[in-house]
Amino acid sequence: MEVIIVGAGIGGLALAAGLSADGHDVRVLERAPSLRTDGAAVTVYSNGAAAAAGLGVPLDGLGRVIETLDFCSPHGRRFARADLRVLRRRTGFGVATVPRADLLRRLAAGLRPGVVRPGREVVGVTAGPDRVAVTDARGDRHTADVVVGADGYRSAVRGAVLGDAGAARNGWVSWQGLTAVPLELTSGSRAMCVVGQAGLCGLMPAGAGLLQWWFDVPPPGPGTGPVDEWLRERFAGYAEPVGTLLTSVSAADIGRCPHVVHRVPARWGTGAVTLLGDAAHAFPPSQAQGANQALEDAWTLRRVLRTPGDPVPALRRYERARTRRVRPIARLAAREVTNRPPSAVGRLAGRVLSPGMVARLQLAMIRRCSSVLNEKPL
Ligand SMILES: Cc1cc2nc3c(=O)[nH]c(=O)nc-3n(C[C@H](O)[C@H](O)[C@H](O)COP(=O)(O)OP(=O)(O)OC[C@H]3O[C@@H](n4cnc5c(N)ncnc54)[C@H](O)[C@@H]3O)c2cc1C
Repeated sequence: MEVIIVGAGIGGLALAAGLSADGHDVRVLERAPSLRTDGAAVTVYSNGAAAAAGLGVPLDGLGRVIETLDFCSPHGRRFARADLRVLRRRTGFGVATVPRADLLRRLAAGLRPGVVRPGREVVGVTAGPDRVAVTDARGDRHTADVVVGADGYRSAVRGAVLGDAGAARNGWVSWQGLTAVPLELTSGSRAMCVVGQAGLCGLMPAGAGLLQWWFDVPPPGPGTGPVDEWLRERFAGYAEPVGTLLTSVSAADIGRCPHVVHRVPARWGTGAVTLLGDAAHAFPPSQAQGANQALEDAWTLRRVLRTPGDPVPALRRYERARTRRVRPIARLAAREVTNRPPSAVGRLAGRVLSPGMVARLQLAMIRRCSSVLNEKPL
């Protein structure tokens, strides 16, 4: 089959790898002039790692494996710990913080030259009875048997086929970066989240001497003035290592990512057009599942497209299978619960549950939103 994928992000490249391996003729039209190198790092959980491996792109050796995740109060008291080694033992795939640029490079590494076409912003999609036509901003027209919109939360493909309003901001913002921070944590396998009234500060080693860090803050954000100074003031009451982190970063290191939420529709396309990843279901990063769900989509879509014959029913089967899995995690992430101080029940649970039990609860949540860890015929 000829397949056009719109967007060379995590989901689009993962799908391109899987479909190319199956012998399909794949083109990836990407708006940017080259693969993205910004965007700090993402946490790849067992489900995302399993999906990537299933697509023929194992992520071994990328970033830094995370074995322990601590949740602490601003005073530095730990209220919960997850032993993430449990996830590897139970699924065969661990948890790692991976710089986005490294992940994109790994996903693209096996693609033939010419598969990814940068500088091609898609501006129109028309689904005909047999073929789908896509128009880019240079005025060129491309046709294929199947078109997949993997073009992120402001998806042009979604706009063309669903015509809905797209993703809405919920007011929260992540201020994040990936830098060399002089902390013991940077070279270890322990990550931590410090949660209080000012918001959440997350710190995760990402390999090569880099620390992925972020501040999730509710509205209103800073007014005018340097954001590094605003963050230093806002998180001034937080115990170490937050202070050291904040003194080591400058405004130039800090990227701004507003949190957005989609309504996850029951149907993601029409005819031979469908969506994948954030284009279908953008949600806030509070559960660290957006990229993982994009990888899951790619794994599932590749699987259904192995069925010979008309691809259209296969696309609808893919959408149904993924909608069922994505909706619960999208709802949970949109509530931003992990970014708020824990309730009394949450604190009590953290005290009585062992790190292994906390990890098993997290794994149960991941299994619920996973297609690859619940592999069944589609
Ligand atoms: C602060 C922050 C932290 C995050 N942390 C995590 C995490 O720890 N773990 C996790 O799993 N997820 C995380 N996420 C979510 C994750 O980044 C996204 O869910 C993931 O990148 C979605 O992948 P995608 O391929 O669907 O879209 P994207 O990565 O957005 O890629 C879309 C691609 O399409 C291209 N494009 C856009 N429009 C067009 C067009 N019209 N024509 C052609 N190309 C186009 C873009 O240039 C881009 O390359 C985080 C998100 C944020 C904001």
